Amino acid sequence: NKPATPQRTFADLNLSDDILQAVTEMGFEHPSPIQAEAIPPILAGRDVIGQAQTGTGKTAAFGIPAIEMIDVAERHPQVLVLCPTRELALQVADEVRKISKFKRGIRVEAIYGGDSIDRQIKSLKTGVHIVIGTPGRVMDHMERRTLKLENIKMMILDEADEMLDMGFRDDIEGILEDMPEERQTILFSATMSKPIMAITQRFQKDPVLVKVVKNELTNQNIEQVYFEVKPKAKVEVMCRLIDTYDLKLLLVFCNQKKRVDEIVEDLQVRGYQAEGLHGDLRQAQRNNVMSKFRSGVTNILVATDVAARGIDVDNVDAVINYDIPLDEEYYVHRIGRTGRAGKSGKAFSLVGRDEKYRFREIQNYTKVRVEKGVIPSFEDIV
Ligand code: ADP
Ligand code: MG
Repeated sequence: NKPATPQRTFADLNLSDDILQAVTEMGFEHPSPIQAEAIPPILAGRDVIGQAQTGTGKTAAFGIPAIEMIDVAERHPQVLVLCPTRELALQVADEVRKISKFKRGIRVEAIYGGDSIDRQIKSLKTGVHIVIGTPGRVMDHMERRTLKLENIKMMILDEADEMLDMGFRDDIEGILEDMPEERQTILFSATMSKPIMAITQRFQKDPVLVKVVKNELTNQNIEQVYFEVKPKAKVEVMCRLIDTYDLKLLLVFCNQKKRVDEIVEDLQVRGYQAEGLHGDLRQAQRNNVMSKFRSGVTNILVATDVAARGIDVDNVDAVINYDIPLDEEYYVHRIGRTGRAGKSGKAFSLVGRDEKYRFREIQNYTKVRVEKGVIPSFEDIV
């Protein structure tokens, strides 16, 4: 038996005291592997490609060095982070604010569509150091000249694979082209693909690849089970699973917006605290739904893939695939919402007859064989 390698600490990473104090307050004991690997080269000024599964702490991996490089006395944007969705921009801003809590005078602003542009313009005018935005809204501010990139020293593409999937390629390229050549470019992604490598080759200089991937695409802390279910019986089966496993905080995924509303209604009728999240909701409604879910007022969030991208809520007990996703990567992203930060989680998939083939394809992709589960009581449902 070889002795366990001593775990690195945040102090080993040469961080300033204000950051050490903040991460301690946040309850981070040790840097996660992607943090331990990515923070040193970013601090050293290198361009970095960081690849790691969801829930591995990528936000702090770029957030910590981003905060370190801010000169608070210079009151203009010095770091720009691009995220695929509004929710994610808010979430990243939240985490970056927490990490920078003890850095005096630092200003962090999220800019995204659906929020008042006038409010964002006012905020930008008064001097913001770290801007976290969605590509569309960032472009909008660039065109209005309310966001100037001439002093950007570090550019971060968070969840680059998702941004490309969502069709932001042109916006991202436009933004990168409009930026000072002398800058650091950091790209984070759960998966690597040809389009991502193309961006990397075009916009990064001699990047360091930091890769923390396990053999399986899906996290070992997640117990994956599937149930063969007639489509009509899915709601019933879902309720039995919720009751049997005493699921407290739960994400349910389906493939269509229309279905989100149907399932929410079915669940509410049965007395469950459920709410839906999809692209047709106004931003204020989405924020409201998310904060109720985060605080546990709502314990079931029913969402489409796009609406739920990147959402990070702690302590999600289980993810239920009400519909089997059309894209294998979505499966990985969906179930990555549970079992985060070393905790355990469950991923239940309700597989209808016409979804069996697709579910098999998913297992080929993830290289994990998913157990078939027995539906709690009443075999006649199957
Ligand atoms: P990713 O972007 O890789 O999906 P996040 O950055 O959203 O992951 O982090 C997932 C969760 O883990 C967040 O709640 C975050 O606060 C927490 N976390 C990040 N780093 C650490 C750490 N070193 N120790 C404990 N928890 C951490
Ligand atoms: Mg992330």
